[in-house]
Order: sequence, then C-alpha cells, then structure tokens
Amino acid sequence: MKNYDIIILGGGPGGYETALYAKEKGFDVALVEAKFLGGTCLNCGCIPTKTYNAIAKELFELKKSENFGISANFTFDFSKAKVKKDAVINELRNGISFLLNKAGIDVYNGFGKIINKETILVNEEELHAKYIIIATGSKNLDTIIKGSNFALDSTSLLDIDSVPETLAIIGGGVIGVEMATIFNQFGSTVTIFEGMDSILPNIDKELSRRLTSYLTRSGIKVNTKTKVLEIKEGSLVIDKNGNNEELAFDKILLSIGRIPNTSGIGLEEVGIETTRKGIVTNEYFQTNIPNVFAIGDVNGKIMLAHYADASGKKVIDYLTGANVKEYPCPSAIFSIPEIASVGLTEEELKANGTEYVVKKTMYRSNGKALAMDEIEGFIKTLVVNDKLVGCHIIGYDASTLIHEAVMLMNSGESVSVAKKYIYAHPTLSELFKNSL
Ligand code: FAD
Repeated sequence: MKNYDIIILGGGPGGYETALYAKEKGFDVALVEAKFLGGTCLNCGCIPTKTYNAIAKELFELKKSENFGISANFTFDFSKAKVKKDAVINELRNGISFLLNKAGIDVYNGFGKIINKETILVNEEELHAKYIIIATGSKNLDTIIKGSNFALDSTSLLDIDSVPETLAIIGGGVIGVEMATIFNQFGSTVTIFEGMDSILPNIDKELSRRLTSYLTRSGIKVNTKTKVLEIKEGSLVIDKNGNNEELAFDKILLSIGRIPNTSGIGLEEVGIETTRKGIVTNEYFQTNIPNVFAIGDVNGKIMLAHYADASGKKVIDYLTGANVKEYPCPSAIFSIPEIASVGLTEEELKANGTEYVVKKTMYRSNGKALAMDEIEGFIKTLVVNDKLVGCHIIGYDASTLIHEAVMLMNSGESVSVAKKYIYAHPTLSELFKNSL
C-alpha cells in the first residue's frame, strides 16, 4: 500500500490547485482523477464558456463597428470556433499535467472511493494518507422536469456541431444567461424560461433588472414567472399565467442548477455527514471526520472555481498551523455587458437593518467608456461606517473592474482615504474611484 500525507479526490480547480499548494508546503501528495484534469471548470465550464464568450464579444463588437465609421463584412464559421475552444482546453489540460508532474505529485487516473477514513481505493489499489481532501465537484441537475432526456445540458450544448436556429433555455441563472448571450451572438433566436420573477434571482436586484432590459434589447426573449411543465422532442410545454402552451425549438438547454458529486465515493460507509446541498463542513472545510476535508462544489457553499481553489489553500494553511482567514469572494457573470459583484447587496443591508451609503456612477459619465462606445451600465458601491462592504457592477469588463473593490475591501482601508488615491486618466478604473 502506498502512503501519502494527503490524498485529494478529484482533479478540478479545487483538487489540482490544492495538490500544487500542498506540495509547495512540503506535503507528500497524491491526486485521483476519474476523467480529465481541470474538472468541470476547464473541460465543460469556465474555460469553454469563456472561449465562446470571447468569440461572441468579437461578433458583438463587429456588429457595432459602424458607430466608429467602420463597415465590416464578416462571416462566422462555428466549426472553427469549436476548434478554437477545444484547443484552449487541450493547452490548459496539458499545462496542468505538466505542473503536477514537475512538482512530483502522483496522479492516479480512475474513480476513487473512500474505504476508511485514511484509505482510498482506486483501480483496485489501496492508497493510504493522514488526510483526505474530497474535491469531487458537482453535476447538472436534470431530473426535476418531465422529459428532461429530450434536453441538452450545458456540457452537451458546448459540444454541438452547428448553431441551432432556435434555442430554448430553461433556467435564468448564471449558466443560462451566459449561454443565452453566446448563442444569441452566434445567430440563434434564444428564449429564456425562468420560474422566478426575475433572472439571476441571487444578485443585486437593480443589476438583474438592467441586464434583463439589455438582453431583451439584444433580441433574447426573457420569460419570467414561467414554469416549464414538460420537455418533449423539439418542444416545451409551459404554464404562463395559468395557460398551457406548447412551443417548438431546435434545441433545448436545461440549466436549472447543479448538485454535488457525493454518490458512490464511500461517504455513507465511512459516516461522512451530508445534506442535499453537499458534504457538511466547518469553517476550515473539515467534515465530521476530523482528518477528512471537502472543498469546492461538493460542499455546496459557493460553486465557483476560484472559491474551490481558495478553500483548498485554506485547508493546507490550517494543516500547517498558518493564519487562516476568509476573504470576500467576488463573482462574475459573462453576459454582454458583464456583471460582477463582491460583498453585501443592498437587499441584504436593508434586511439586516444596517445604515449604509449607496453611490452609483454611470459608464456614460466616463471618458474612456464613451471613447470605446461602451456606455451601458454602472458601478454601485455600498459603504458602512466609511468602509466598502459591497460593490456591484454591470458594464464593460466588470469582471476585471470588480478587483478594485476586492483589493479595497481586503486592505481594510477607509473609503475617505481611498478616494485620494491617484488613478490614471482616462481609464475605466476611474469609474470605481468616482463611485467612492
Ligand atoms: P470540478 O471542477 O467539478 O472537478 C471535480 C473533479 O472530480 C472532476 O474532474 C471529476 O471527474 C472528478 N471526480 C469526481 N468524482 C471522482 C472520484 N470518485 N474519483 C476521482 N475523481 C472524481 N465558475 C467560475 O468561477 N467561473 C466561471 O466562469 C464558471 N463558469 C461555469 C460555466 C459552466 C457551464 C459550468 C457548468 C460551471 C461554471 N463554473 C464557473 C463553476 C465551476 O466550473 C465550478 O465551481 C468548479 O469547477 C468547481 O471546482 P471543483 O474542483 O470543486 O470541482
């Protein structure tokens, strides 16, 4: 039996980043991966969607280039876009493999199962470790609606060979909205069906309202408060205000959420506590079995790649006795325009009864944004006792700008001091400064 300090189950961004960090900190590490290194994020999540999003943004810019006096005649070859997406995935996959190999981390390809609190069985081999970190991720939830077998999930939609003429998207969450943006630019007629009263129900309400109007203006049909009753081959049955309607579509995407990968990995046998949301963990991502930890999507806390990575590093710091701190976790939605957030929302502050100051700066007030013809959107900051507690951005490159707020929140600096920082002009970053 091979012995390690740490075995990590799952080679997604949680697993492989944690393996590299643990090795750097002097642990002897093994990583077990059932399919492809990079997990959901690299193979069927963040990276393929962001490659398609980059192409969609190019198409969007081309379409509005007339505003700059440019007449562009262009065609779009989807098969080449797909080749590009696969090339990006392959390059990054090889990169991870190279890094793990260079660091001297043993990688086992196979489905691992925990057979006792210090042993994992993979390919009929038993591996022993002082600590086990479960990072098995999540999968698409597909069983709630009748006929879900007739729909694609996000993984299979990313793998189609031609752009559908009409695309229905069930679920107006982050994945649904990102796919709607991509396929709208690629040429599909896209319709979103969302049961709640708004798309992206978990974000700042003002941003979700604003995005709905931008999506609608770009030709995406957004149906909220609309329940999909049944999926059939090439059609949907919906309930809109009590009336049943059957609508035909070339392709249907079911994106109603993701559930943790907890089955078949030995959790019940070893007595690791779970709920429907995932493996139960404390602030150090420790399960009820003290030497077993669970990070990333599988614990259901925040289903984002960078949170999985940060959580794994926190576990390793905890094991080395280093100072362990929870930092605010930003999130980004890669629609056109983008959305990004960090910290508390206005709705949360209101619900807590906290007194706050809200400030908003519009993109159209910024010289660089006007010069770039990227005038849609705004930055909204929320300040409590002279400290930034939340920032919500809708607009061009929001996913980059949000890190101004992340840095300020982590620095602990007051807003009245940060207002005096000198920013280069003209830049989009000035939008953030002017929102303080
Ligand atoms: P995963 O990435 O799911 O990796 C888990 C790995 O464990 C997989 O490789 C799996 O094969 C392996 N595994 C499972 N069981 C076993 C076993 N028993 N033995 C061995 N291996 C096993 N997040 C962002 O932050 N930004 C984005 O832009 C973004 N876009 C997304 C777009 C889509 C379409 C989707 C679906 C997700 C997106 N996400 C995004 C979410 C992100 O992909 C996940 O939060 C992230 O991948 C979670 O990382 P993880 O390491 O916990 O799990």
